Amino acid sequence: MSCPVCGKTGEELLYRVPRERDSAHRRASYGVVRCEHCGFVYVSEPPDSSQVAALYDRSFFSSSQQALPVDEAGTLAPSYRSTAVYRNAERRVRLLREYRDSGRLLDIGCGNGGFLLAAADTFPGLGVDISEDACSFVKRVLGFETICGDFLTADFEGSSFDVVTMWDVLAGTGDPKAWLSKVNSLLKPGAVLALTVPDVGSLCARAMGRHWHLMIPPIVVSFFTEATLRDVLHRTGFEVLYLKRPGKYVSLAFLIRKLARITQTRRYVREYRASLLKRAIYVNLRDIVTVVARKAAGGEEAV
Ligand SMILES: [Zn+2]
Repeated sequence: MSCPVCGKTGEELLYRVPRERDSAHRRASYGVVRCEHCGFVYVSEPPDSSQVAALYDRSFFSSSQQALPVDEAGTLAPSYRSTAVYRNAERRVRLLREYRDSGRLLDIGCGNGGFLLAAADTFPGLGVDISEDACSFVKRVLGFETICGDFLTADFEGSSFDVVTMWDVLAGTGDPKAWLSKVNSLLKPGAVLALTVPDVGSLCARAMGRHWHLMIPPIVVSFFTEATLRDVLHRTGFEVLYLKRPGKYVSLAFLIRKLARITQTRRYVREYRASLLKRAIYVNLRDIVTVVARKAAGGEEAV
């Protein structure tokens, strides 16, 4: 196959990562390859959108890392402010406010709507997500508009936005260039895009190889370095304003599961639901890149 970023053929195999969820596939592992031309690292057989939708089922969004608490009446419980998802969202809103005072937001891969909630006063807007469970939660509990479906085929009916966000989303698509081109077409002149992706060029990723905690196809299928992320943003008409590696809040339960995966003791760890394990802890392995970019004047570069 050809590289999803530069379009050329010729790649080297870096890792074979065992499949965990769907052993019915003809291959027992995913091939993670690096383009010999532009250096982009990607999964050679990414899942299609129906397979992606199956990954983000109810269990994903009810996990301690994603869930927003609701009370018995089905309304949002005040303890949402202490969840990992909301604390990350608050920090990200503060970052965006350094670049924009206000404006209309599109949150791609909005999940349960934690970011829409934290951003609502400054950047009111809507979310898009492939998960019907997530979209229905956002509408029913938070009252925000959502579009349910694959971002690439979703119709925004001529809408344009001042801010587009993709938190932990771009690395999940096998065609990041097409996604970023579509984002660019939805932005007003001078509008900003903010996103996070795992950094396969980080010390942690290089030291751990295929055992890196974010080497998790099919959840992650596009693996950026700082250089390849800047490259694809440039190709799709963006100018990078901010690129750093801040940490993030994770739930204690999430941290325990990650450590169990790394230490190969996963089978002894079950899904914890105790409130203590929902506690948010700030972690920074410096292997996740946060970017704020602006729609460049002159639009998308011809490539
Ligand atoms: Zn390439």
